[in-house]
Amino acid sequence: MNTKRFSRATEILYQGAYVKGRAEYPETPPIYLTTAFNVQDLDDLEAVYEVKGYTYNRTRNPNRKTLAELVTYLENGEDSIIFSSGMGAISTAILALLNTGDHILADDTLFSETFIFVTQTLPKYGIETTLVDFTNPDAVRKAVKPNTRILYTETVSNPMITVVDIGTVAEIAHANDALLIVDNTFTTSRVIRPLEKGADISINSLTKFANGHGDAVAGSLSGGRELVKKIYDLQVLLGSTIDGFTAWLVQRGIRTMDLRVQKQLDNANKLAQALEDDPRVIKVHHPSITTHPQHELAKEIFENGYCGMLSFEMPDDREKINTFIRRLNSAHYAMTLGGYRTSLSHPVSSSHHGLSEAERQSMGITFGLMRVSVGIEDPDDLIADFRQALNVFN
Ligand code: PLP
Repeated sequence: MNTKRFSRATEILYQGAYVKGRAEYPETPPIYLTTAFNVQDLDDLEAVYEVKGYTYNRTRNPNRKTLAELVTYLENGEDSIIFSSGMGAISTAILALLNTGDHILADDTLFSETFIFVTQTLPKYGIETTLVDFTNPDAVRKAVKPNTRILYTETVSNPMITVVDIGTVAEIAHANDALLIVDNTFTTSRVIRPLEKGADISINSLTKFANGHGDAVAGSLSGGRELVKKIYDLQVLLGSTIDGFTAWLVQRGIRTMDLRVQKQLDNANKLAQALEDDPRVIKVHHPSITTHPQHELAKEIFENGYCGMLSFEMPDDREKINTFIRRLNSAHYAMTLGGYRTSLSHPVSSSHHGLSEAERQSMGITFGLMRVSVGIEDPDDLIADFRQALNVFN
């Protein structure tokens, strides 16, 4: 940089703009909260292009890059992209990999906004969607069409907490020249790495268990280098990126992900069993429960536990359910999941509000169903709190 001194009005813009001295290895990475990166001249710009360096925040940012490296390691992929949300990752991936006339075969229990995207948005672009129960591999096999390009599922469904055999559906996808995309948000890489089971793309809403602190919205996608590059090219055009600070927050959150998630997995097992043993509870949906339809499968394909999410059924009594929610002192009602504190939601009035009664019934979603995202509290406190709140049904 030129050292010529200008007037105060100009110097105020330039003084202290660049870090001098040895500051390359701070204990925590710096936050690159910048829209652009300066280059010295045209030769320098060419050199930056050559090494895929940094020019503009929408295309690349060092905090997103280091976060992507961390996610790639955790998901055991070749490369990853960081998005502005889980939905950013899902919609960009699907749009990048499908063309008009293609068909996507999707799980019939998808997260509500993914469900709306595949059933309402994709048809507007001439892309056909079929929904099928992915816990039934034969039904998946039968639903594949000659123009099927993507099979799309989630490791664990919401809110019934069913488990998909990722290896088997990956085989079905590849036997039909299709790709398998798996949303790993509910389980995280602590429990399963879908790419190792044969999935082509693994997606995470980093907003949830990965960041875990309820202070950042972000998403990621991991897979093979070529596929990721194709999706990255569309991401640059759609602009579904995050700034350096959000990426920094998520990276900081992930540093403790294994500790938090392990505690959440252990607590979920304990809370599920306590609810299962409680006579006021009609049914518990959690893979740790031996009567769960995919208990054996979950034991086989999951590591370190099952899932930090569970759901359970109470009697369909609106008044009493409201009192139950108000009586809980630890768990609180929140429109998110995966945070360090236990939260709950009522699928009929939140995630599945837009569905008809008949659609909800076919999914097994009753009015008394409550979904719980289990936190890292002392499990005895948590269980005692749920028990005292359930006293409303005595
Ligand atoms: N996938 C699953 C399974 C989710 O539960 C959610 C949000 O709750 C998403 C994706 C979307 O994530 P985001 O809110 O970060 O867009």
